[in-house]
Amino acid sequence: MSALRVAVVGSGPAGFYAADALLKSEDPAVEVDVIDRLPTPWGLVRLGVAPDHENIKAVSRAFEKTAARPGFRFFGNVEAGKDVTHGELLRIYDAVVYTVGAQTDRRLGIPGEDLPGSWPATAFVAWYNGHPDFEALEFDLSHERAVVIGNGNVAIDCVRMLALTAEELAPTDTTDAAARGIVGSGLKEIVMLGRRGPVQAAFTPPELKELAELAGADLIVDPADLELDPASERDLEADRERVRRNVDLLRECAPREPEGKPRRIVLRFLASPVAILGDGKVEAIEVGRNVLVEEDGRIVARPTGEVETIECGLVLRSVGYQGVPLAGVPFDEGRRTIPNDHGRVAGAERTYAAGWIKRGPSGVIGTNKKDATETVELLLEDARAGALDHARDDSAQSLETLLEERGVEFVEYAGWQAIDAAERADGAPLGRPRVKLGTWTRLLEVGRRITP
Ligand code: NAP
Repeated sequence: MSALRVAVVGSGPAGFYAADALLKSEDPAVEVDVIDRLPTPWGLVRLGVAPDHENIKAVSRAFEKTAARPGFRFFGNVEAGKDVTHGELLRIYDAVVYTVGAQTDRRLGIPGEDLPGSWPATAFVAWYNGHPDFEALEFDLSHERAVVIGNGNVAIDCVRMLALTAEELAPTDTTDAAARGIVGSGLKEIVMLGRRGPVQAAFTPPELKELAELAGADLIVDPADLELDPASERDLEADRERVRRNVDLLRECAPREPEGKPRRIVLRFLASPVAILGDGKVEAIEVGRNVLVEEDGRIVARPTGEVETIECGLVLRSVGYQGVPLAGVPFDEGRRTIPNDHGRVAGAERTYAAGWIKRGPSGVIGTNKKDATETVELLLEDARAGALDHARDDSAQSLETLLEERGVEFVEYAGWQAIDAAERADGAPLGRPRVKLGTWTRLLEVGRRITP
């Protein structure tokens, strides 16, 4: 029996974990083509994880091992839904697994959200990480104060990146434009706004601890924010790990006198953005004070009506990611995911999902391993049960001939390896892991038409 042929759309962690689980299968044996819109693989490991978190990026070594397995192929610079449709993928492959992540930011829905100077954190993250769609953005970092909205790890990443010193940035693969901008910025204060209290904050203790240990910024925590309401107190008592460690750390930081470092990071809790103000560009943000109330067993923020105005020139909105629909693939508008049952896509034949587009934008990189494995187990179960049998048209075009006919210049894995080698070679003399090729032109110049 010939091997099962599976297309995995999206080459981030979920895509690579899915490919790995598929390629390990013996019954049936599987061949996997991983398709990505970008010429480069690894998704948020390359373009989301903060550049100063090189140890987290090391997971890419596991992905390299997956790529070395027999039966693996990479097709970069190929956009599913545009260069090849879902229907065409179903004709060429026995099954399609979507691992496209959550590609856009959630909106706040407040006045002034789109004023120049108010950015989704996703754009800032992509810019400092050298995403080729974002290299031309111009972040004006000349202001004295920036406000980062949200209390998740992405918000913490943005705050920390804005506060890094030249020495802290030097050994990273932060783009030159971002490193120059950050080091030369006029920023004196970075305010992080959490709409609920410290007990409800989504960030994790190691990330919070890093904020407290920066060379160039004092961390300011108002002790009054650590006086907890009874419901938060109860949740804190019930937690033995993340929340407890967060609150302990905040309690350690609150009484500390600032050391007079060049920048200040100010954590504000119970503070919701109400409006972003300015004449043609961001000049201030209106922030409403909240109280916490219990609603259906959940602690939610309720506005007190008390509002203050904080002057600032930059606002980064970091309130979560959301998925975007793919042509021809079912989409749940409410949850912003592909509707699925443990990874089997509801109402679509031979179609599966894994990662953020399956479960929403939560968890760490490793969470996607279990998630993708669950999906692949169901896919293989379906294959063994005959549910993936289809009128396989032997004259059906292979993906490569279809793309060639359309003039799509795809980047194969060898092309990515050429990009990778060029970037590492540029980084080595500078003591940096790599200097990223940050434009489409350069990526395609180096990566295209290099075949094994
Ligand atoms: P997240 O953890 O879901 O945090 C989103 C934050 O936005 C929450 O604090 C949320 O507050 C807040 N928020 C939502 N709507 C808001 C509104 N209208 N006004 C004010 N605040 C609002 O999302 P994320 O930070 O984007 O991270 C996504 C995932 O990637 C997470 O699982 C995260 O842990 C992971 N990640 C991990 C790392 C790392 O391990 N170093 C780094 C980056 C990202 P409420 O809780 O009140 O809703």
